[in-house]
Amino acid sequence: DAEPALLELRSARASYGEVEVLHGVDLVVRPGTVLALVGANGAGKTTLCRTISGLMPCDGQVLFRGEDVTQVPAHLRARMGMVLVPESRGILPSLSVDENLELWLSDRRARDGVYDRFPNLAARRRVDAGNLSGGEQQMLSLAPFLARPPALLIVDEPTLGLSIQVSAEILAALRSLRDEGTTLILVEEKAREVMTLADRVGVLSLGRLQWVRDRAQVDVDELVSAYLGGA
Ligand code: ATP
Repeated sequence: DAEPALLELRSARASYGEVEVLHGVDLVVRPGTVLALVGANGAGKTTLCRTISGLMPCDGQVLFRGEDVTQVPAHLRARMGMVLVPESRGILPSLSVDENLELWLSDRRARDGVYDRFPNLAARRRVDAGNLSGGEQQMLSLAPFLARPPALLIVDEPTLGLSIQVSAEILAALRSLRDEGTTLILVEEKAREVMTLADRVGVLSLGRLQWVRDRAQVDVDELVSAYLGGA
């Protein structure tokens, strides 16, 4: 169809040393959509995130807005608008919440916008980031992207280890990012929560993308029992 892809992978293969763990992934992500990528432990989800963002080299091709970025390093891809929320959340634990935010957002109004979005963080602004709960850390790590929405944001396990209530807050923040035009790839082992936000759902299994379907075509219970060990 006519609408150009924001992101496209063509036969993407990635290895750790001699061991190939992504075996030729083809994927098209349209602008303004939310793709939920689910898969069991070890399926290659984190590797795929790192491949898309440029943190891992790959064979095959990665295209962004039709441009071949396969050889473009991660920091330059980020500047082009392809961003992976950093692992270990990119937070400096011995700095306060406010100090962490100041590193990313020099504009006071942008920081206030983050606090409006996440009142929990506002209440904890003077606390060392290392003492935040998992949910608060996830809020803090998303903050710079909420203030300056990238074209494509990849989030590895956005709700891992979080309570239902905190997960809902994170998903609401991601939904508002989507509403501002950011294309999202949400990678999860637990499918149910991200499914509420997804337009498309893809299943990764043993380093292969089994299928990608419209959300409406996916039976969540079937998906979970077939691919995710019934969790
Ligand atoms: P998880 O949910 O456990 O993070 P995942 O779906 O993200 O799983 P990956 O972390 O991408 O899966 O791992 C895919 C495969 O690559 C696994 O078999 C894993 O053992 C292997 N692997 C991951 N990281 C490395 C590494 N640094 N060196 C060697 N093998 C690795």
